[in-house]
Amino acid sequence: MISLHNVSKSFTGVPVIQSISLSIARGDIHGIIGASGSGKSTLLRLMNLLETPDAGDVEVNGQKLTALNTKQLRQARKSIGMIFQHFNLVANKTVYENVVVALELAKYPKAELRKRVMDCLQFVGLESFQAKYPAQLSGGQKQRVAIARALANHPHVLLCDEPTSSLDPHTTAEILRVLADINQRLGVTIVLVSHEMDVIKSICNRVTVLTDGTIHDTVAITPRGIQETVNTAVHLVERLK
Ligand code: ADP
Ligand code: MG
Repeated sequence: MISLHNVSKSFTGVPVIQSISLSIARGDIHGIIGASGSGKSTLLRLMNLLETPDAGDVEVNGQKLTALNTKQLRQARKSIGMIFQHFNLVANKTVYENVVVALELAKYPKAELRKRVMDCLQFVGLESFQAKYPAQLSGGQKQRVAIARALANHPHVLLCDEPTSSLDPHTTAEILRVLADINQRLGVTIVLVSHEMDVIKSICNRVTVLTDGTIHDTVAITPRGIQETVNTAVHLVERLK
C-alpha cells in the first residue's frame, strides 16, 4: 500500500531522513517507533508528501506521488487521512463543521455532505456532539472528531502521528480500539507513529524502529511470536537510548 524507495530529506543542510526504503502492506497496522528527534514525524509526512523528499520516490496505493503535479497530488491526498497528537481541530467551528470542511475541500457532492458527516460521527460515537465546540470536549472526544474528519473522504490509508500522546491510559486504550476498528471494519491501512512500545504492541502487526533518520530494523508482531518480537523491538529501542 505504501512504498518508499531511497527517500532522503534534510532541513537546512542537516539530514533528517537518510535514504530510507520501506514497504507497508495493504491492511497492516504498521508502527514506527524511535526516540524524540529520530525523524518519525518527518517520515510520516513524507508518506503524503506534506514534506517533499530531496531524493527518492514515494508510492501510495500504486500511485507514484513524487511524479504527480499539484492538482493530481491534491486528488491523491484525499485517499490519505492524517491525525495528530494535538488533534488540530478548528476552535471556532463546531464538531459538525470540523468534519464538513474536509469534505468541502475535497469537493464532495453537496447533497451527500450531511449524511457522510453524520455517518463518520456515528462511527466514532459522537453523533450527539455535532453542535459542540472543541473547547467543550475531552481530549479523547477531540481525537474522535479528528478521526471522523480523517475518515470523511473514504481514505485507503490513515497516518497517525502520536495520536494518544496527549491522552491518559484509559482514553489511549479507547482511541486505539477505534483505530483497530477502522482497520478491521473499513480495511484502512494504518501507520502509527509513537514513542511508546505499549501503544505499538497493542495494535500493530509490524513495527519499524527508527534511529537518527535511518531504519534500524522492521520486525513482525505476530500473535504467536508476540513476546519474542516485542522483546526484540524493545531491546532495539533500549539500545538506541
Ligand atoms: P520525531 O517526530 O521523531 O521527534 P521529527 O521528524 O519531528 O522527529 O524531527 C527530526 C529532526 O528534524 C529534528 O531534529 C527536528 O528538529 C528536525 N526538523 C523537523 N522538521 C523540521 C523543519 N520543518 N525545519 C527544520 N528542522 C526540522
Ligand atoms: Mg514527532
